[in-house]
Amino acid sequence: MQYNISQPDLRNLVVGVDTKVPLANNTYVTAVNFDNAASTPPFFSVMKEINNFAPWYSSVHRGAGYKSIVSTQVYEDGRQVIKDFVKVDKEKDVVIYTRNTTESINMLAYLLCENDKNQVILSTWMEHLANDLPWRGKFTVDYVEIDDYGRLRLDDLENKLKKYSGRVKLVTVTGASNITGYVNPIHEIAKIVHKHGTKVLIDGAQLVPHIGVDMKPFGSPEHIDYLVFSSHKMYSPFGVGVLIGPQEVFANSEPVYKGGGDVKLVTHQSIYWEEPPARDEAGTPNVMGVAALTAAIKTMQSIGIERIEAYENALTNYALNRLKYLPHIDIYAYSQINKRKVSIIPFNIRGVHHELTAKILSGEDGIEVRNGLFCAHPYALRLLNLTSEHIDYFVNNPDIPFPGLVRVSFGLYNNSLEVDRFITALQKIIADKS
Ligand code: PLP
Repeated sequence: MQYNISQPDLRNLVVGVDTKVPLANNTYVTAVNFDNAASTPPFFSVMKEINNFAPWYSSVHRGAGYKSIVSTQVYEDGRQVIKDFVKVDKEKDVVIYTRNTTESINMLAYLLCENDKNQVILSTWMEHLANDLPWRGKFTVDYVEIDDYGRLRLDDLENKLKKYSGRVKLVTVTGASNITGYVNPIHEIAKIVHKHGTKVLIDGAQLVPHIGVDMKPFGSPEHIDYLVFSSHKMYSPFGVGVLIGPQEVFANSEPVYKGGGDVKLVTHQSIYWEEPPARDEAGTPNVMGVAALTAAIKTMQSIGIERIEAYENALTNYALNRLKYLPHIDIYAYSQINKRKVSIIPFNIRGVHHELTAKILSGEDGIEVRNGLFCAHPYALRLLNLTSEHIDYFVNNPDIPFPGLVRVSFGLYNNSLEVDRFITALQKIIADKS
C-alpha cells in the first residue's frame, strides 16, 4: 500500500528542512532530522519574531525608556501566553523563567529542601537524570517501579506512598519518557498523590511539545502542582526553561539564585525580597528567548495541539509498522496496550552496535538520530535487560563498547518520505551485516 503521511503546511513552518549535509563519500544530501526529542529546529514565525523584536530589545524591569517598557511588556506577556497554553491557575500559580528543564528542577529541589533526610522524594524508573540527580543528597529518594513493557506502575506508586506515609515531600514524574515515548496519566497520578496528602511535579520536557497539557485549577484533585519544560524542544531556540508552581511556596522560600532583580531593597543588615516570580529570576533575564518561546507557543496554538498529536501519532505508527517487518530489528518497550505515546521509537539492529547504526545512518544517508543511554541511564539499562553484573563488566572493561539503543524522534514537520528513506537505509545496514 502507498502511504503518504505528509502535511506540507506543517513542514513549511520549520526552518532547515532543506539543509544539505555532507556524506562520507563527499556528496551532499538533504538532512533528515529524527532527533527532535533532543531539540527541535525553530519555526519561521519564531525567527521572524526575533527579528521584529530586535529593534525593541532592551533591559527588562529596569530601564525607564520606551524600549525598556516594550521589553518588559514582551517578557511579562510571555507568562500569560504560557498560562493559557498549559491552563495554569492564574490566581494561585506563578510562571518562573529559568534556563531549561534541568535548571527548573534543580531550583525546585533547592527550594523544597529543608535539610531533613527523613523527607522522601518519589521519583520513578522512567526519569531523565534531570529529574533524578537534583533530588539525591537532599532527600531520601525512591523510585516507582515500571512493568515489563517499561510503563509506570501506578500500583507501586500507591504502595510507596503508603510505605512512606507522611514523609513524601513530592512525587516527581515525567509526563512522557524521552526513551520510549510513553505518556504517563498525569491527572490520575495527581489524584493518587493528592489522596495521600502530597504534591506532584510533572517533567513536561517531552510532553508539552506534543500533547495538550491542562494543569487544572488549584484545589482540584487532578491539579498538577508543579510543571517544568524547555523552549528548545518546542520550535524555539535554547535558553528558556519554565517552572510553574504555587505562588505561596515560592513566596515563602529563599531564592536559589541571588543578586539584582530579585530584591526590593538591601542594606548590609537586611534583604527585602521581591514577590515571585521576580524573586526567583535574579540577574538580567533572557527577554529575546521569551519573545521566541511566546511566538512558538502561538504557532503551536494556531496549528492546534490536537492536530500535532494526531499527526505525530500517525507518522509514528507508520514508522513502527514499517520497522516491525524488517528482519533483525528489536523495538524496545513496544506495547499495544498503552497506545498513548509521543513520537519516539527506541530500537537496535541485532548484531550491530548502536553507535555504528547511528554513524552509518548519518554518514551514509544524512539521517540524524541519537544513540546511547539518553540521560535516563537506569531506565535504558532496564530496557536492555542489563543486570548489575553486566554493568560492572562493561565499566571494568572500558575497551568493550557499552550497550545502548538507537532513538528516532519525530517533530510535526517530519513526513513519511523521510521515514521511507530511513527504512531503506536500515535495510542496507541489515543486508551488509548478513
Ligand atoms: N526531562 C526530559 C524528559 C528530557 O527529555 C530532557 C531533555 O532531553 C530533560 C528533562 C532536560 O531538558 P533540558 O536539557 O532542556 O534541561
